[in-house]
Amino acid sequence: MALNDSETLQLFQTIIDNLPSGVTLMDKDLRFVAWNSQIKKLLDFPDELFAPEPPDLTRLLRYNAQRGEYGPGDPEDLVRAGLERARKMLPHVFERTRPDGTVLEIRGVPLSDGGFVSTYTDMTQRKHAEDELRRIASYFQAVLDNLPFGVVVMDKDLRIVYWSGMSEKLFGLPAGFVEKQMPLANVLRTFAERGDYGPGNVEEQVARRMEIIGNFEAHALELPRVGGGVLLVRGVPVLVDAKPTGFVLLAEDISERKTYQEKLEQLATTDHLTGLLNRRAFLEAAEREIRRSHRFGQSISVLMIDVDLFKSINDRYGHAVGDEVLRRVGSELTHALRDEDIAGRIGGEEFAVILVQATLPVATRVAERIRLAFAGASVDAGTGNVGFTASLGIATFAEGVDNVHHLLSIADQGLYVAKNSGRNRVHCVQAGLELAQVGAEASR
Ligand code: GH3
Ligand code: MG
Ligand code: MG
Repeated sequence: MALNDSETLQLFQTIIDNLPSGVTLMDKDLRFVAWNSQIKKLLDFPDELFAPEPPDLTRLLRYNAQRGEYGPGDPEDLVRAGLERARKMLPHVFERTRPDGTVLEIRGVPLSDGGFVSTYTDMTQRKHAEDELRRIASYFQAVLDNLPFGVVVMDKDLRIVYWSGMSEKLFGLPAGFVEKQMPLANVLRTFAERGDYGPGNVEEQVARRMEIIGNFEAHALELPRVGGGVLLVRGVPVLVDAKPTGFVLLAEDISERKTYQEKLEQLATTDHLTGLLNRRAFLEAAEREIRRSHRFGQSISVLMIDVDLFKSINDRYGHAVGDEVLRRVGSELTHALRDEDIAGRIGGEEFAVILVQATLPVATRVAERIRLAFAGASVDAGTGNVGFTASLGIATFAEGVDNVHHLLSIADQGLYVAKNSGRNRVHCVQAGLELAQVGAEASR
C-alpha cells in the first residue's frame, strides 16, 4: 500500500499526537511541517506563537531566548546561534534544564530528504530518580565504608561494583587497588599469587574459586590474614526474583573471636587447679584414643589414681595445702608421662591416665614410676613439708574391656584392692591377662 505525501503526513500526525513527547518535523528549509500539542505543553509555548500556523522557528527561538530558556546572553545572539546550529542538521541528544528546574531530553535526527525530526521528552522524573539513586549509592558507600566488615559487591558478570575501604584493608590490598568494574578474578589472582590459597597452580586456584562464585553458591571460608590473624570470608548470591544478579563477599577479621573461642574451649576442657583435662574432656579424649587403638590393633591402658588419706591432709594442714598437693599430683603426672598420654582430674583427689600404645607390663611400670614419684614428692605447708602417696589401679584394653567406662571400672577395682591392701601401691585385677601378657612379652 503506497501512501501519498498527505496520507503519510496524516499518519505521522496521528502517531505524534499520541506520544508523551513533544515532536516537531521540519523540512530542509527549517519550515515546520508537523508538530504535536505536547510540544506546546512541555515548553509552555503560548498559543499566539502557533498562530498563524505553521509556527516560525526564528520566533520560537526568540521567545525562548528572551525568557532565558538558553541561559544568559544577548537574545538576538542566542537566536542566531540557534538558527546556525539548526541549519547544520546534525544528529544530537542532550539534556536541557529549564529555568523552572524541569529537565528535557532533546533529540534531533536528520531525515534522508533533508528534513529533521526533533523530540522533547520530560526527563524530570527520571532525572530525580537517578539523582535519588546516586544519593542512595553514596549513603550506601558511606555505610559500607564504616562497617567493621569488608564488603565487596559484584554484578552478575562478577565485576566489582561496590567495595568498602575496609575490604581493601582486611584483604591486605593497597588502598585504591580495587577499581570500579574490575573483574573479581584479578583480585583473586593477586591473593593466589601472594600465597593466600597455599601452594599450587595460581590459575587453577583462581579458576576453582571463580567456579564456586560463578555458580552463585553461598559459601564461607577462613583465610589467613596477611600479617597474621584469621579472616572469615562469606559469599552470598544476590537474588532478584530467584535469579542471581550479583554476588556479595563479606570479610570479617575473626582473629580475636578465634582466640577467645580457643580460650573458652580451653576453659571448658581444663581443670583449673591442675591444668589437666577435666572429667568430661578426659572421658572424650579417652574414648577417642581407645577407638583409635582398637582400629589400629594397638594396645592401650588406663590408670586410676586416688590420693591416699587426702581428707586427713586437708584436716591437718588446711584446704590450701590440700590444693597444693593436688597441683603437685598434676605436675608429677605430666612429668612422668609421654606427650601422647592423656591425664585428667576426674574427681576431687582422683585422677586418671590413658597410656597409648602401652601393654599391661608397660602400664604397670609407668604406674609404679608414678607411685614412687608421688611418694618422693612433698609440698611446702609453711610449717614444714607435707608428703603424700596414692594408690593406683590399672586396666588394659582386652576382649570385653573395650570402652572407656569398662576400662575405668576395671581400673577402679584394682584401685579398691590397692586401697584395701594398705594403700601406696599398684594393682590390676586383670591378673590372668597380666600373667599371659607378661609371659608373651618375656618370650618375645
Ligand atoms: P582414701 O585413701 O580412702 O582415698 O582416703 P581419702 O581421705 O583420700 O578419701 P575421701 O574420699 O574420704 O576424701 C577425699 C577428700 O578430698 C574429701 C574432700 O574434701 C577432698 N577434696 C575434694 N576435692 C578437693 C579439692 O579440690 N581441694 C581440696 N583441698 N580437697 C578436696
Ligand atoms: Mg577418693
Ligand atoms: Mg583418696
